Amino acid sequence: MKDIIDRLAGKHDLTDEEFERLILCDEPEANDYLTKKADEIRQKVYGKDVYLRGLIEFTNYCKNNCRYCGIRCANKNVERYRLSKEDILSCCDMGYDLGFRTFVLQGGEDPYFNDDRLVSIVRDIKKNHPDCAITLSVGERERDSYQRLFDAGADRYLLRHETADKAHYELLHPAEMSFDHRMQCLKDLKEIGYQVGCGMMLGSPGQTIKHLVKDLRFLQSFKPHMVGIGPFIPHHDTEYKDCSAGTVEMTLKLLSIIRLLLPDVLLPATTALGTIDPLGREKGLQAGANVVMPNLSPGNVRGKYLLYDNKICTGDEAAECIRCMTARVAKAGYQVVQSRGDHIDMIEGNTY
Ligand code: SAH
Repeated sequence: MKDIIDRLAGKHDLTDEEFERLILCDEPEANDYLTKKADEIRQKVYGKDVYLRGLIEFTNYCKNNCRYCGIRCANKNVERYRLSKEDILSCCDMGYDLGFRTFVLQGGEDPYFNDDRLVSIVRDIKKNHPDCAITLSVGERERDSYQRLFDAGADRYLLRHETADKAHYELLHPAEMSFDHRMQCLKDLKEIGYQVGCGMMLGSPGQTIKHLVKDLRFLQSFKPHMVGIGPFIPHHDTEYKDCSAGTVEMTLKLLSIIRLLLPDVLLPATTALGTIDPLGREKGLQAGANVVMPNLSPGNVRGKYLLYDNKICTGDEAAECIRCMTARVAKAGYQVVQSRGDHIDMIEGNTY
């Protein structure tokens, strides 16, 4: 197994069969070695720096009905909210004072936030904080909409592909949603010039090792700037309520493999990982992750953006979140830095 890991670290590639063996491997020594190699490469590219992204969950209205998601439109037990433009701008102001230089606006697919409204929000954030990066994570839109938002100043876009296998995608989503459209969105975003993040849940219902290998092949060919992965966690108001959650071990394993596959990729240690294990995010950082996304949403809405059960950090205020996160990062052996934290392109020698 050590050979396989060395080859992945050196050549950033393996055969499908080797990927499967590595993903399934449960020898503690081999897994420790994988973690060590991932951390080595992470430190070569990014040192001990950890980038902060201030996450603003600005609407939990959603027109979609993804089977796994707690805020799917069919869930009538959600108390819906949307933040006003003023709320969003003041979240950014407060985040700026706390040291954030990237704001991630994430939400359900809420038709209220049409292009005009979103463009005006993006413009104003950029006007107030020209040294900050804006990341959008508002799902599938059409190319001209992505273009308008980019022209208004959005720098990055997060759209997880969820799974690179069409049949698996169709299992996880209702018939109105299309795998091909999601893939087209990712392609459009990249062509327009966004720094793009994709990613998948680990342990989602119906996921097999072969699906994970397909995900890795997709990452290899798509070359995203960022990969957001986290364990699937059931939500009590969905049909998957009795399914088991993804595991910490599998999430850490995939973080390390992705770090070795795409050495310069931005890799967050996600809230979902911190939810299934109190030290999940710290372990994620030690396994190759280099980004954390503390919550900047106002305290009164945090308990309403629940994609899955037992989500952490729903009670804290932003200042508390950043203090807690900075301490956790330091304890794990790394340091939070105050910068936009752009992607470092090792091959082209550019930073975006
Ligand atoms: N609506 C936007 C972004 C919000 S959802 C979009 O569709 O892109 C952000 C991510 O949360 C999703 O991409 C999904 O991977 C993850 N997520 C949703 N439900 C989840 C669950 N039950 N467990 C773990 N992650 C979940």
